[in-house]
Amino acid sequence: MSKKKVAVVGYGGMGGWHVRNILASNVAELAGIWDISEQRRERAAEKELHVYTSLEDVLSDKSVDIITIATPNDHHMSIAIQAMEAGKNVICEKPVCMNSSELEKIIEASERTGKLFTVHQNRRWDCDYLMMKQVYASGELGEVFGVESRIQGSRGIPGDWRGHKEYGGGMILDWGVHLIDQMLRIVYDKKVEKLYCRCDHITNYEVDDGFKLDLYFEGDVTARIEVGTSHFVSMPRFYMTGTNGSAIINNWTENCRIVCCKNWDEKDVVPVVTAAGLTKTMAPRDEKTISESEIVRPTSDVHDFYRNVCKAVDGIEPQLVTHAQVMRVMKIMEAAFESDRLGQVIEIEDHLV
Ligand code: NAD
Repeated sequence: MSKKKVAVVGYGGMGGWHVRNILASNVAELAGIWDISEQRRERAAEKELHVYTSLEDVLSDKSVDIITIATPNDHHMSIAIQAMEAGKNVICEKPVCMNSSELEKIIEASERTGKLFTVHQNRRWDCDYLMMKQVYASGELGEVFGVESRIQGSRGIPGDWRGHKEYGGGMILDWGVHLIDQMLRIVYDKKVEKLYCRCDHITNYEVDDGFKLDLYFEGDVTARIEVGTSHFVSMPRFYMTGTNGSAIINNWTENCRIVCCKNWDEKDVVPVVTAAGLTKTMAPRDEKTISESEIVRPTSDVHDFYRNVCKAVDGIEPQLVTHAQVMRVMKIMEAAFESDRLGQVIEIEDHLV
């Protein structure tokens, strides 16, 4: 398979990341970059990258197989549709676009032109997520009834376009899109029946600078997804609990710790003594009734995303991040905004994809 030529549109933080990864790739090579900012174009030229003179210049370059879009979110739809109509395959940064009606137009363009369109859900390669996915699928915890996924920072929402609605700012679209996508793949066998979301506006009134989203899956599984930008001590990255045990991942770098029950009946519970009295119900268990184990962080290479896209362009593999999966996440984000606006639980029609 020959290397695919990729042009990157939008050479900011994430565009730079794509450029570095494409330059190091064994499946793709860089055709060049385009950015509306002269300063960003000069920066690329200083690094001796090929700099296109306009979007049209990129689109008319017959050697380009794939366009990677890394602009702010409000430009994704227009660039994606123009690119596919010019015969290019498209990798689009997350969130795919601003809403589901924009996404319908993108999917229609992909089907009409026969060009591949996919979204850079790169956090499907995060080790913490992969460990949680493994624990759920293993059944080791018995019937899982709770999953929690949290990202908490302390610097507020970035002061760039992410702070403004018109560009697609806010934490649901920024981090929520990753955490929802991950959660739907962890609880891979259940549909979401309803959800409830509350947004934070601690440092920004225009967009959400954090949120708490509860997804109620069929079979009484509840997932809490929480993003915060005003937390000076963080809660664990992931927590999962079931009828037979619990699993925890404290941060981005640790292994997954699993504690399972090996003997439900415990005769000699030592009560916890508090100022207000004794409790046996909440007393910790000892090693006679529980067993502890760890999942070691798996090896993971995020460039497998590009490897898959290059093979999918040649029809050798199906694309990993599909239109239906991206639409499912978008519908959940829309329902989350609606729940926050109404202050109500929202019932949704979800499908396993
Ligand atoms: P950024 O502000 O650093 O960069 C955006 C760049 O796009 C800027 O250089 C800007 O001049 C340029 N631009 C704006 N409109 C353009 C247009 N019409 N045509 C060409 N260039 C244009 O933003 P960023 O942090 O790089 O985010 C870009 C995208 O990447 C967003 O969609 C964001 O959500 C996504 N992102 C994804 C991840 C991830 O982990 N997948 C991480 C960060 C950002």
